[in-house]
Amino acid sequence: MANSEPPSPLAGEGARRADEGSLRAVSRSIKTVADLEGAKLVSVQSGLDPVAEKYAIGITPAVLDLIDRNDPADPMALQFVPSTAELHTTAEERDDPIGDLSHSPVEGIVHRYPDRVLLKAVHVCPVYCRFCFRREMVGPQGLGTLTSAELDVAMDYIADHTEIWEVILTGGDPLVLSPRRLAGLMERLAKIEHVKIVRFHTRVPVVEPERIDAEMVAALTSSGKTTYLAVHANHPREFSPAARAAFKTLVEGGVVLVSQSVLLRGVNDDVETLAALMRGFVENRIKPYYLHHPDLAPGTSHFRIGIEEGQKLVAALRGRISGLCQPTYVLDIPGGYGKADIGAATVSAGDGCFRVRDWQGEEHAYPPG
Ligand code: SF4
Repeated sequence: MANSEPPSPLAGEGARRADEGSLRAVSRSIKTVADLEGAKLVSVQSGLDPVAEKYAIGITPAVLDLIDRNDPADPMALQFVPSTAELHTTAEERDDPIGDLSHSPVEGIVHRYPDRVLLKAVHVCPVYCRFCFRREMVGPQGLGTLTSAELDVAMDYIADHTEIWEVILTGGDPLVLSPRRLAGLMERLAKIEHVKIVRFHTRVPVVEPERIDAEMVAALTSSGKTTYLAVHANHPREFSPAARAAFKTLVEGGVVLVSQSVLLRGVNDDVETLAALMRGFVENRIKPYYLHHPDLAPGTSHFRIGIEEGQKLVAALRGRISGLCQPTYVLDIPGGYGKADIGAATVSAGDGCFRVRDWQGEEHAYPPG
């Protein structure tokens, strides 16, 4: 891994496209169809070239170690190894499924709710998830990295909007930035009095845990703001010993951890896997937060289950595992209308009382008749 500090678009004049040198480069990662064939993750003449032309490929050594090449339905492979199924786009799928672009007042900022903004400084990730909701924006052909001038405008926007209480760094994966660059961003946010919370959304502790060291933790926490980190994991096998060590380093360094997962056909669409995933989060001091219904990203219909099926799984979790382990099942309403809690369909109203459905599907009147 390169730890040197070449000039960065986040520090000086730079091109709009991702300057790979500004990021802590992922070495030995699988990035091409030839790499996939060489690692025996796909057969030769896999027909994946058209997929690779549309969507980025990225598998880190840590993820490669988790893939079972002998299992054609391996949940780790499904998440990261491309498939020709991605060439099939359905009518309801869209390039910007959650409406980022229609809520972006300046480059790099998404302002959907009054008290918080997304700050998308980079559109590079250490891995490229096959179900990614921003797959049209991330990767070498994506939106790139903010230039220094664009970052100035984004920071000015945050400073000028005193209602912004929380800044959520996402992208792309913000933890591909070096600790020095992250500390620079945090220093700038520290000067904005009304921003109290900085939240990072990342796959890094799981897919490239070696990046999480004391220097990284210092960068995330040195600003004096409260730092939250939403760890993205979808299957309990992602909790490798190295990932667990990374979580420990973060928690003991003062970072508050919450989870985010996507409900994915073939990966975690059964109650045993979801229960093990949520318990795994809690055992690692990560509070389960969001379980996302998969978004309508192009070429991802093979990952989607129905909302009713998802509701049944979430209801079954209620009876199976501790309240500490319960995530909120959410749908990002297409078009940028924000998140809706779709696990809440356990209550219906009528005739002055409510019908409440328990985790086994039985309905009960409230107040009781
Ligand atoms: S890490 Fe996040 S942004 Fe990057 S490809 Fe995966 S889901 Fe998309």
